[in-house]
Amino acid sequence: MLHQINGLHHVTSLASSASENNTFFSEVLGLRRIKATVNFDNPEVYHLYYGDEVGNAGSVLTYFPFPNIARGRRGTGEVGTTAFSIPMGSIPFWRERIHAIGAGHATPTNRFGEQRLEFYGPDEDHFALVEAADDRTPWTTDDIPAEHAIRGFHSADMRVNDAAPMIELLTFMGYSVSATEGAVTRLTVANGNAANKIDLIELPNAEKSKEGAGSVHHIAFSVSTKTDQLAVQSALTDAGYRVTDVRDRNYFHAIYFRTPAGVLFEVATDEPGFTVDEDVASLGTALKLPEQHEKRRARVQQTLEPLKNLQH
Ligand code: ZN
Repeated sequence: MLHQINGLHHVTSLASSASENNTFFSEVLGLRRIKATVNFDNPEVYHLYYGDEVGNAGSVLTYFPFPNIARGRRGTGEVGTTAFSIPMGSIPFWRERIHAIGAGHATPTNRFGEQRLEFYGPDEDHFALVEAADDRTPWTTDDIPAEHAIRGFHSADMRVNDAAPMIELLTFMGYSVSATEGAVTRLTVANGNAANKIDLIELPNAEKSKEGAGSVHHIAFSVSTKTDQLAVQSALTDAGYRVTDVRDRNYFHAIYFRTPAGVLFEVATDEPGFTVDEDVASLGTALKLPEQHEKRRARVQQTLEPLKNLQH
């Protein structure tokens, strides 16, 4: 069993509009846009990162907005719900806020004794805010005070036809089953970061998801260092998973593998982090390109739609 995984690092999803995406996550949810860059494999598409002040692992939600891509279809083999943690007693604040901006209905629910508020993003991406004791420092905005602001991820749900192979994989990665309730199995990693929970939802007869706008593309787990990452890569490979080589994503190093349920997993390093090419005060305010795409900057900038609070 591995001991290097700390919990979640980031969750990356697909969107149909960069500007809508930017408004929803920066202004409605009040996350900080910590990086505006491009998809390193397709530099004419943005890669937008939102998180806490510096983009600590376990707080980072990222999007690839592909203009006008079709909506995805929800189903199994994907991350169904990405859940953020909010302070106890904050649900009425958020319920009112989400209703007020017309983002649709926000529904209070309960899971494992925790109060949740479930709602949809601009592409019907599914989210929950979960009331939890969480001492992480939040990013705040003019209209979202610290007493209600999002702390980072609480957990993520994965919808699967068969939970057993995913329980086996997550257990190998260092998680253990901490609770079950109906179709939901919660796994938690001990001594991890605050985003240390995964909920598997077993839906034996549900249809497979189809990727598109609003779908989670992959979910990334945090390791502290490149050395830890190599140990994870080697152990997963020995266990029979087909793991990619290490990719340099400028802000972290990444390896990827497809899980038995179909969900794409990434293991990403906490080092070097988002301040490697911008200082903390100006994170996310300028379009950053990786060195290999810098020569195409003029063309890239023409292709990308302008975004609020982003210098091109
Ligand atoms: Zn990623």
